[in-house]
Amino acid sequence: MTTAARVEVLLGEARGGSRRALGRLLAIAESGGDAAEALDRAILGAEPPAWIIGVVGAPGVGKSTLTGRLAAAAAGTHPGPAPHVAVIAVDPSSPLTGGAILGDRIRMLDIGDRREVFVRSMAHRGATGGLADAVPVCVRLLGAVGVAVVILETVGVGQIELEIVHAADTVIAVVSTGWGDAIQASKAGLLEVADVFVVNKADRPGARDAVRDLEQMLDAGAPPHDARTAWRAPVCTTVATAGTGIPELWTAARAHRDWLAQTGAFAGRRTERLRHEIGRRAVGILARRVAERLADDGAGGPETPEAAAQRIAAEIAAGDPSLIAPGP
Ligand code: GDP
Repeated sequence: MTTAARVEVLLGEARGGSRRALGRLLAIAESGGDAAEALDRAILGAEPPAWIIGVVGAPGVGKSTLTGRLAAAAAGTHPGPAPHVAVIAVDPSSPLTGGAILGDRIRMLDIGDRREVFVRSMAHRGATGGLADAVPVCVRLLGAVGVAVVILETVGVGQIELEIVHAADTVIAVVSTGWGDAIQASKAGLLEVADVFVVNKADRPGARDAVRDLEQMLDAGAPPHDARTAWRAPVCTTVATAGTGIPELWTAARAHRDWLAQTGAFAGRRTERLRHEIGRRAVGILARRVAERLADDGAGGPETPEAAAQRIAAEIAAGDPSLIAPGP
């Protein structure tokens, strides 16, 4: 059977509620290359998930625990037999451990045996294009099989993690009183990406200070406030282990989604993200072509580096036949 035919069969099964089929499709999306492309082509034009939530924050702040709570809250709002909520826990930083650590983390998700929640961990396994390419395909796939809410949880706050949470409509940035204060959040780039802030582990001392510091930093960095055009991230406090503050966090996140819808930013963000993904893929293709040329060309010839770069770029732009072939 061709990949395309196999994908069609699996899509039919996954739409019918087969978790096994969905798991196999996600593995195809994750592996990248031609198979992932065939899958993406098969679902072209399908409805994307209604809401994509990203959860980001340093290891240990309680993201996994919180994600389980959020998944349960989301499942409660979308009752049904097939999975309506999917959690993708992404760990770009562990090429060596594979998914082993995430496997353990997933078991910590407090979702019991809820049938409506589907959980998947993804680690960097040398996939073509990497997780930054694989995650958007997985999200589209989840939408195509009827998942309404996708929660993307990343393990850290590095550049790739922030890139991945950019695939989300609503980004929830988590800090904890144990981990860090507002300055660390700022250094990690969380202030720029967060739509909702959470100070978790509020059962420990220091939560109030952390909230106050964050509020001050958000106010200092906020553009002139206009309720229609500017969103100022609210700061919530939670005790994820006990479930305290989860309804308020859920309400704050939904308020952000409503705001996106009311201002038209929802569609705008999604269009922008698609452009970003296309641009990143195009740059990746060109970068590979340039690298091939460089390998052929050698270095240290009679040209300046700038002149050599312009010549290579011009040759590629003029119709390098290798550009027309799909990338590796
Ligand atoms: P992650 O690495 O950010 O995903 O964090 P985890 O969800 O794995 O949590 C790290 C540790 O903090 C675990 O031992 C959790 O039980 C604990 N934890 C999570 N939330 C809270 C909380 O609100 N209060 C306290 N005291 N501990 C928490």
